Amino acid sequence: MGRQRCSNSDQRSLSECFHVNQYTAQAMDIVLHYTDYYFFTPYVYPSSWSEAGALRQIISLLVVTNLGAAAIYLLFGMFSYYFIFDHTLKKHPQYLPNQVQREIQYALKSMPWMSIPTVALFFAEVRGHSKLYDNIDDSHYGWFGVIFSMVSFLFFTDMCIYWIHRFLHHRFFYKHLHKPHHIWKIATPFASHAFHPVDGFLQSIPYHIYPFLFPLHKLVYLGLYIFVNIWTVSIHDGNYRVPKVLEEVINGAAHHTDHHLYFDYNYGQYFTLWDRIGGSYKCPSAFEGKGPHDYLRKLKAEGKLCGSSSSNGQTSNGKVCKEE
Ligand SMILES: [Zn+2]
Ligand SMILES: [Zn+2]
Repeated sequence: MGRQRCSNSDQRSLSECFHVNQYTAQAMDIVLHYTDYYFFTPYVYPSSWSEAGALRQIISLLVVTNLGAAAIYLLFGMFSYYFIFDHTLKKHPQYLPNQVQREIQYALKSMPWMSIPTVALFFAEVRGHSKLYDNIDDSHYGWFGVIFSMVSFLFFTDMCIYWIHRFLHHRFFYKHLHKPHHIWKIATPFASHAFHPVDGFLQSIPYHIYPFLFPLHKLVYLGLYIFVNIWTVSIHDGNYRVPKVLEEVINGAAHHTDHHLYFDYNYGQYFTLWDRIGGSYKCPSAFEGKGPHDYLRKLKAEGKLCGSSSSNGQTSNGKVCKEE
């Protein structure tokens, strides 16, 4: 293919470093560059197949998107589940039998379907139809423009997800598309990506359309993409701690827990802004001493929870015994 690697001192853009051809050098995605260079070209595809071939790019994007999404979900999900998630929540009466297993199975089954329209949008990016750029110099306002784009990405996607999420709660769509995500009343980090494929794709559209509408640095886009996945895991981890000054502003796990429990509140993703504007803001019950942990403490005090000192591990007489 006549590719050449950059030396450390070479200041040219990544696209120039990996010379492919006139067309792909304009916009080929960073991830595709690296996976082609280190994996697909030497080990998978025949050397006669051009890296610029549309079919090859689509197949590569499907593999990268599916493996990448599953890796991010499982990796951050596991970290959060073992190190952040409070396992006493599994004793909550609304926690389902084998819930973690069911959340993971549902998420992994949906991801391949979700990846099909997602790859169509990635393909359009790779073919140069987005406003993604390689170098800070390409930004009209330099570093200020790059930092501003991060902030605007968060506010833009927060606003869009709020309205898409609200629309998904309309009775015409809820039952068919969004209800599977609300099966988990007491969510674990693995519920974060357990969506019907259409629901998951619709809620991810804002992330994909942003770089078609506004300029964005490619590495910043990749970073933000990973960040939003981590954030999605974090609002399902049942850890309600947020710095006091940000409690009113940030839509954290406490807010999203109430969304799973009470449906019509706290549709937002990062901020409480649109819930306040749209009249759907609810102060999290956990902040008022009425959250799932408080309920468990009450059950325990009344001797109605398995494992509590007064329950003696009995499962009868109205005691609540919940375990994975
Ligand atoms: Zn919802
Ligand atoms: Zn959720």
